[in-house]
Amino acid sequence: MPLNVQIKIAVAVIIGLLVLMSLLSASPFLALLFLAACILYAEMINPNWNFFGRAILNIRHQPLGRDAVALTFDDGPSLHTAKILDVLKAEGIQATFFFLGRNIERYPEVARRAEAEGHQIGYHGYSHTKLHLKGLEFIRLELDLSERVFEKAGLRKPQLIRLPHGFKNIFVVKEIERRGLTLCGWGRGVWDSKKPGVSVIVQRSKSLMPGEILLLHDGDGAKENPDRAQTVEALPLIIESYKSRGLNFQRIENSSAT
Ligand SMILES: [Zn+2]
Repeated sequence: MPLNVQIKIAVAVIIGLLVLMSLLSASPFLALLFLAACILYAEMINPNWNFFGRAILNIRHQPLGRDAVALTFDDGPSLHTAKILDVLKAEGIQATFFFLGRNIERYPEVARRAEAEGHQIGYHGYSHTKLHLKGLEFIRLELDLSERVFEKAGLRKPQLIRLPHGFKNIFVVKEIERRGLTLCGWGRGVWDSKKPGVSVIVQRSKSLMPGEILLLHDGDGAKENPDRAQTVEALPLIIESYKSRGLNFQRIENSSAT
């Protein structure tokens, strides 16, 4: 996690504790209410938690899961996706892509190639809008648009979905369940979206533990020409480091959900 994000979290925790202490001296009920609101908000923005329902947060219970990791890519397809597919093909690895509806409209052939080469494909919404503060109407529209784009591109109907930034609320989780989809989070992010440099991306990826899901990006939200050259360059080095640890690579399957 980058230092500026760690500082932001530390500042938020300190401010929260100060508010909690001042509320506690005024009214224990208000303090309890504030604490509950903080926990709820943390749940909404934390991709590693899901108290709202069913989700895939790791692949530990899959066959061979203890020796496996899952590479996942968000925000594609883009022109860089094709380069990532080349690397995965050369390494004989299957990964999981969460494609954005808007970007499938731009590069449907790349999305079809990913599917044809055996990778798992999931939804990532249509416009990359964060959904944690949205109501049911907006959420349904995003999911409907995504479904239509996949259908129009001739792609299989996905069983998995990962939400933009991993942000969620009870409405989106229940709507996902109603549609027979499974929510997918991740264990480690390397913040390649911020382009910190190839060596930093590779170094951060080394903290991944067996059974965990790594988040990478082959796009940049709904931006038209994203620069993911660093991710493309880092990928073979990440794969090499995991292979040297004896890890194997798995697609995420719907059956991984708990
Ligand atoms: Zn995203």
